[in-house]
Amino acid sequence: MEFNSNILENFAIGNKRLIARIISAVESENEVSIQILKYLYKKTGNAFRIGITGPPGAGKSTITNQISKHFLSLGKSVAIIAVDPTSPFSGGALLGDRVRMNDIGMLDNVYIRSVATRGSLGGLSRKTIDIADILDAAGFDYIIFETVGVGQSELDIAKIAHTTIVTLVPESGDAIQAMKAGLMEIADLFVLNKCDRPEANKALTSLQSSLQLRNFSQQDWQPPVLKTSAIENKGILELVEMIDKHREFCSNNENCKKLRIEYTKERIITIIHELLNKQILEFNSTFINNSIDEILNKNISPYQLAEQILNSYKFTLDNL
Ligand code: GDP
Repeated sequence: MEFNSNILENFAIGNKRLIARIISAVESENEVSIQILKYLYKKTGNAFRIGITGPPGAGKSTITNQISKHFLSLGKSVAIIAVDPTSPFSGGALLGDRVRMNDIGMLDNVYIRSVATRGSLGGLSRKTIDIADILDAAGFDYIIFETVGVGQSELDIAKIAHTTIVTLVPESGDAIQAMKAGLMEIADLFVLNKCDRPEANKALTSLQSSLQLRNFSQQDWQPPVLKTSAIENKGILELVEMIDKHREFCSNNENCKKLRIEYTKERIITIIHELLNKQILEFNSTFINNSIDEILNKNISPYQLAEQILNSYKFTLDNL
């Protein structure tokens, strides 16, 4: 199929059907999807990307909803990517969508999408960034990634978000669990949600003392802890102000820039890995199987076979 950029003529926030079609093309690895992504890349760079993670039930969806409403009240547009690390068919993601749909999902300048990541190489990484790029190119001001911070690959949220928020609740041991899961390392901001609960102050002290164990250099951002009761919309304004502060801090900080460069390199390497896997290993698996006897009989070496496959190859991303 030939890619014709005319199909993107009406590509804008208001055209949710077209956005959905393009995201689906990318998710299903449709043959023109890479060409679309190449074309749209130069239009990206305007959206501010926020990651919200934490244990299930901590209030991530509620916080996402509240901060989205705040941005909307300022006349901004918001895209929400709900990353589901389990399966495309899990009730969780679908239910999550429906709940949100009732609230802000129907508004013109809001777009909500669930992405399933299980099984994909690099977990969260490639397709989620691609989808974010599509939404960025469409013109959304904010992109919020919401993900459950349970698996190792979910920690990659910090690589794709400009500001990463780790949400915890005042339950005993929550901070320790979070530390074990590696969440402490990725947070730019901590939110202690459900502070309407009586045990909140004790939890706050315990969280702050766990954080003191970390070392920060003078040039680094010091992740603050904010208290919210998202359900009552308390602490949300302070949270949004802190997101802005972090955004400003990173806009002229060398370490933040270095991290962006690192993550961009990783993105390129992920693309190359997938290309190699798909185009060489999958495509040549029969050839490799058929050559095994030759190798076992010492007629050719594994290196010769690998070289033969690589030499026969002309790389193109179009079938990625
Ligand atoms: P998620 O799984 O992290 O996305 O959490 P949700 O946003 O779905 O919230 C889980 C439950 O906690 C829901 O029943 C929310 O209504 C409730 N919840 C969210 N924020 C608060 C809060 O600030 N205080 C209290 N008491 N409950 C909250």
